[in-house]
Amino acid sequence: MTISQQELDGQALDALRRYFGYERFRPGQGELIGGILEGRDVLGVMPTGSGKSLCYQIPAVLLHGLTIVISPLISLMKDQVDGANEIGIPAAFINSSLLPEEQDDVLAAANAGHIRLLYVAPERLETPRFRNFANHADIALIAVDEAHCVSQWGQDFRSSYLGIGEFIDSLPDRPTVAAFTATATERVRRDIIHMLRLHDPKVVVTGFDRTNLYFDILKLGTRDKANWIAHYVADHADESGIIYCATRKQTEELAETINTLVPQLRARQGAGAAQPSPTSPIAVAYHAGLTPDRRERAQRDFVTDAVPLVVATNAFGMGIDKSNVRYVIHHNMPESIEAYYQEAGRAGRDGEPSRCTLLWNESDIVTRRRLLDNGGGNERLTEDEQEQVRRWKRHLLDTMVGYCRTTECLHRYMTRYFGETDEGADGAAPHCVGGCVNCESTFSTTDVSHIARLISMCVHDLAQSYGSGKIVAVLRGSRAKDILDRGLDHVQTFGKLASVPQSTVRDVLNQMVSDGFLMITEGRLPIVMFGPRAAETIDPAFHYEMKSITRPKREQTPAH
Ligand code: ADP
Repeated sequence: MTISQQELDGQALDALRRYFGYERFRPGQGELIGGILEGRDVLGVMPTGSGKSLCYQIPAVLLHGLTIVISPLISLMKDQVDGANEIGIPAAFINSSLLPEEQDDVLAAANAGHIRLLYVAPERLETPRFRNFANHADIALIAVDEAHCVSQWGQDFRSSYLGIGEFIDSLPDRPTVAAFTATATERVRRDIIHMLRLHDPKVVVTGFDRTNLYFDILKLGTRDKANWIAHYVADHADESGIIYCATRKQTEELAETINTLVPQLRARQGAGAAQPSPTSPIAVAYHAGLTPDRRERAQRDFVTDAVPLVVATNAFGMGIDKSNVRYVIHHNMPESIEAYYQEAGRAGRDGEPSRCTLLWNESDIVTRRRLLDNGGGNERLTEDEQEQVRRWKRHLLDTMVGYCRTTECLHRYMTRYFGETDEGADGAAPHCVGGCVNCESTFSTTDVSHIARLISMCVHDLAQSYGSGKIVAVLRGSRAKDILDRGLDHVQTFGKLASVPQSTVRDVLNQMVSDGFLMITEGRLPIVMFGPRAAETIDPAFHYEMKSITRPKREQTPAH
């Protein structure tokens, strides 16, 4: 018996109300669920927090047969399974945390039809036990969560995802396949379809502009970042937030700084009574190097509001279901707009006004470039392919740098990046819904061509053999013993920028590194050398600018 699309839609809406208690679908959900129920492969590209899981959970209860969810993070499976069971969808997971006997029990229950949703990690698909089960099971749907992990062109590539397409094709009776991701670039999208071998999928891409988010960017020296964050946290003590750091060590140091500084700042603000007791910290660190126990505790404390703030590496958050995160601060610039949007997008999942702040400086850019150029390759790729991937990642980084430097509306910058049109439905340019710092600031640019040219000449004078500190010191005419001992006061460029503040010379130098005019070598004593664009600085027409911004006075989220 075939049933009409209308009946399917009715059933889906019924399930939405019955199991989830929601009245209507969010954008994209109805179409994706409808496609799956019709037996069509789908690809759902929706921002974090838009409700992707429901798109396979509803079919799981409506379809005859099992739904297998392939999900990359073992640590989150338990939460997802608990959540599904709580609302009456029988679910279980299989991963390495279960004993072989327990795994057998789960598979037997799935075989007997007692489970509708089975979560597995991609590694599991390769084991003989699971293959044997899958070959005999009645599988109606395979949902691939975080499907961009299959793509070399994204930043979350996982080699274990490469086997999914082959696994699906090996099944005696091919089920419907539904892939979901929050990474929306065209290239990743194409790659998902190709690598997962989707059959003529229905692709649904929903709006990427999160209109309840206020986007802020702030250029700060490395040492000023922690202080700025502590003040921000003290001013928003009753709100939940996430701070992303680039390294594990940074997360621990910053969490400690916050736990020491914030109570002092709060006391100074006269909020003594509201101070947390010493046993309940304000911030907890989270990274992949912690024991599973500590990671789980940190996650639980945050989700249950026992601690308001988590200071984490990017290991935190994929799939975290916490709707009332009011702010996300990035302590460093991430490696791509995708990564940034996904992490920042964990703010305001409940639709309430929330703030996303990106702290950056030129040395963040330099570090990212260095990591990229020296990053370990993927051994499954040829040298040529690795170089291609590296080139692509450089491009991703450039667009991230572009975000830090742009003076245009930050909402518009991102939606354009994700392939949405620049114009509103009526052809008018969209206004900045949600707000962003650029739309509230005034900008000026300063011509720093002269400074840049002298920096370049100084690097030449010093025979590309010194670090940035010495270059700045020479240009500013420092008479430090070290400079005199080495005779550096005799070079042509000595003292040529004596009247320019040290911080300006340093900023221009850093910007030149991130723009490729100069480069800084690896090692204990980094040396400034010429970069690929160095020759441009000796062109008489060379023109170089630095942007400065006058920020809005008010630093709070407007709607707060
Ligand atoms: P994603 O996987 O896209 O990041 P989730 O599936 O975790 O998002 O959903 C985010 C939140 O939105 C969850 O709390 C979920 O219950 C809620 N949600 C999903 N669909 C709807 C809906 N149609 N109406 C209201 N809330 C919804």
